[in-house]
Amino acid sequence: MIPISQTLAQHFEQLCESGRLGHGYILHGPPKGFPAQAAMYLALSGLCAQKKPCMTCNICQKVLSHDHPDIRVLSADTTSVDAIRHVIQDIQLGARDGHRLFVCVLHADHMTPQAANAFLKTLEEPPAGVTLILATNALEQLLPTIRSRSTCIACPSVPDPQIRQWITDKTGTDYQGLVSQALVGYIEKTGIFPQEIVSRASIANHSVSEILSLAESLAKDKAIAKLAMQQWLEDCVRPSDNPETLQNNAHAARHLLTHIKNSNYNLNVRLQMESVLFGLQRQ
Ligand SMILES: [Zn+2]
Repeated sequence: MIPISQTLAQHFEQLCESGRLGHGYILHGPPKGFPAQAAMYLALSGLCAQKKPCMTCNICQKVLSHDHPDIRVLSADTTSVDAIRHVIQDIQLGARDGHRLFVCVLHADHMTPQAANAFLKTLEEPPAGVTLILATNALEQLLPTIRSRSTCIACPSVPDPQIRQWITDKTGTDYQGLVSQALVGYIEKTGIFPQEIVSRASIANHSVSEILSLAESLAKDKAIAKLAMQQWLEDCVRPSDNPETLQNNAHAARHLLTHIKNSNYNLNVRLQMESVLFGLQRQ
């Protein structure tokens, strides 16, 4: 998961540990405050047996793989009035597995007025043991009636070095400049880390079928495919004392530059990515 502000994480953990968790929250803040991630963090803190997302226990694993019965997540494209009504009906019975059920609306400002009104009634009279969490980058776009019935919590921006460290831990490489910025931009927009971004070094250990499926995944989003190539290119220009490494890097860089240039044309992206990946494996 993307890191959230440490103060905020501690606040959530204390809330859950003390048993003072309320029934309605609005988590709001700038894109780099990652309110949608904060909503998931709060729900995880409430569900995890250790009252803080350990990310490893059975409960956390179930939540992260969208397989826990006590959390409903509505994202930007599932906040139609029908979807909201369906969830509201579904949560009347309360928690299934644990003692509390969470409903997270990840882009609450995308709710239509009808959907927001359907939600409002539940905020006024929430079923026992249910916590509703709305996340938004635009607090002012939520209905004043929704705001006044929820506890509003601001999500401060996560400092850039912390985000970069997280990307480094995730990919095993310390990306600088443009690639890091582009990755952060993508994560801000979607709230998820593109799993297709793997380190250049790890490609060497991929089997043929792994290469083919990675190429297929990368091809689903041209922007991610290009970002991945730029990221590998960045890796090629690292200084090295080993002449053989330098020569391999130069070959790989030339190979990548050609493909980055070609990616501006309307080519079959999947075939292109296969050629890029098999080419990198040879270097
Ligand atoms: Zn856990």
